[in-house]
Amino acid sequence: MVDYHLHTPRCCHAEGTPEEYLAEAERKGLREIGFADHFPLGLLDYVPRAQVTMNPDELWQYIKQIEALKGFSKKVDIKTGIEVDYLPGTEEKLAALLEEYSFDYVIGSIHFIEDWDFTHPFYAETYGDLDLNKLYRTYFELVWKLCRSGLFDIIGHIDVIKKFGYRPDGDLEPYWIETARVLKATGTCLELNTAGRDAPVNEFYPHKRLLEACFKSGVSVTMGSDAHGPLQVGRYFKEAVELLKTTGYKEVTVFEKRVMRSMPI
Ligand code: ZN
Ligand code: FE
Ligand code: FE
Ligand code: ZN
Repeated sequence: MVDYHLHTPRCCHAEGTPEEYLAEAERKGLREIGFADHFPLGLLDYVPRAQVTMNPDELWQYIKQIEALKGFSKKVDIKTGIEVDYLPGTEEKLAALLEEYSFDYVIGSIHFIEDWDFTHPFYAETYGDLDLNKLYRTYFELVWKLCRSGLFDIIGHIDVIKKFGYRPDGDLEPYWIETARVLKATGTCLELNTAGRDAPVNEFYPHKRLLEACFKSGVSVTMGSDAHGPLQVGRYFKEAVELLKTTGYKEVTVFEKRVMRSMPI
């Protein structure tokens, strides 16, 4: 099993040292882990209301720290990833920045719609004021744009817009079909992110039907706990692997220097 979505305290909302995350991965018998802490929003000239990423001058330290951890464990392979906010209009700047640093993989995630951090519990009340049909349309259009940017290897917590349990009444099937099609067409890897089980919505990202649509379209998949503390490493992974297998998946995708390869599950 692989857990490709681990944070570090540098993002200001996680706890525990990378060594502690690694120890938990060993304890849970994971084969491979990857750190994917939040890319500094300052480098994209974006200042959110609450600090949720590392500072720009920490990026090199972060990379060095994770690189130094590689080879530390005989049991677990370690990868250096990053979770980057997709902000429309920053594509060129981000492309240049990603060339400067060498990551094993880059996760693209959406946490902001304009200046609203819709994944942050502080601002969750806003959902109550919105037309949820319009909101889902806006969100999924961002998802498709993220994929088409070609900047990201993996899309993180793909339907995180459901995090606080707000969903439109209508049939979401057309979103799942189109999303699976776009992922396949752009070669973007899906992440089965188990963190949603600990969010108010209490289900994995993506929704089961979206996972099925992705499998049918031939989209590759990887796994992430989105751990913001050592004990969350590999959370609900037994259940997640069962879900992948019943959906039809026989392998997960791993990355090294942004080249993908399959690993049997
Ligand atoms: Zn975070
Ligand atoms: Fe995220
Ligand atoms: Fe994350
Ligand atoms: Zn995340």
